[in-house]
Amino acid sequence: MEIKAKELSKVYGSGESRIVAVDKVDLEIAANDFISIMGPSGSGKSTLLHLLSGLDKPTSGSLTYDGKDIYGFADRELSAFRRQRIGFIFQQFNLLPVLTAKENIIMPLLLDKKQPDEAYLKLLTELLGISERLTHLPHELSGGQQQRVAIARALIAQPDIVFADEPTGNLDSKSGGEVMDMLRDIWHRTGKTLVIITHDNRIAKMAERQFVIMDGVLSEVTAR
Ligand code: ADP
Ligand code: ADP
Repeated sequence: MEIKAKELSKVYGSGESRIVAVDKVDLEIAANDFISIMGPSGSGKSTLLHLLSGLDKPTSGSLTYDGKDIYGFADRELSAFRRQRIGFIFQQFNLLPVLTAKENIIMPLLLDKKQPDEAYLKLLTELLGISERLTHLPHELSGGQQQRVAIARALIAQPDIVFADEPTGNLDSKSGGEVMDMLRDIWHRTGKTLVIITHDNRIAKMAERQFVIMDGVLSEVTAR
């Protein structure tokens, strides 16, 4: 899937309190791209991720997925599009505490009344090293294991693109490194688009295309 953002901007407030959180961002993301967007706190990373993934609407500018203007979708159409085509990984894992690891992983499919492809589920959980942990509740797992469950959940519907917002932000450097190695391995094997938001330079450097955002202005660091 090809994603094109043109002059994407998000402005909060007005007058004295006016903030340009995302400032005329032009970005083309190709299928199979592995992108990192690095910037300090308050630079506009989360806002840009929300715009790119259709969680939030821009003040101006356009965003297309394979030529389709996703902000032109009706709300229900956009939610279904996000559930089926986009995977999200969050800093806080966002697992449901009363469900087992497996139930958490397949939840996005159940919401669409679909059954998991057991072979794909097995492959994913083996790649992530959690196949022996599927009947455990989140609190019985380490932070790194919880994030790996969340990654399996993000991938179970076989989305075209995965957005990860500070995926290692709550992990120590060892388990954070393991999670990143696994994400990169899965990216290689599945050929999905991966966009990672981070303030950590070591994580940003793992991506093939590296961007920096400062005061809402996005620049590509890698030569193309
Ligand atoms: P980052 O993710 O890099 O920390 P954000 O995208 O969260 O940055 O924020 C970018 C700027 O926009 C910051 O100055 C922040 O205070 C401001 N901002 C973010 N969300 C809102 C909001 N809902 N209302 C007003 N200002 C906001
Ligand atoms: P932060 O980056 O502020 O620590 P998160 O990364 O946990 O917060 O979540 C980022 C945003 O994504 C939240 O503001 C929330 O509105 C949205 N969000 C969280 N979970 C989901 C979800 N499962 N589906 C869609 N949007 C979500």
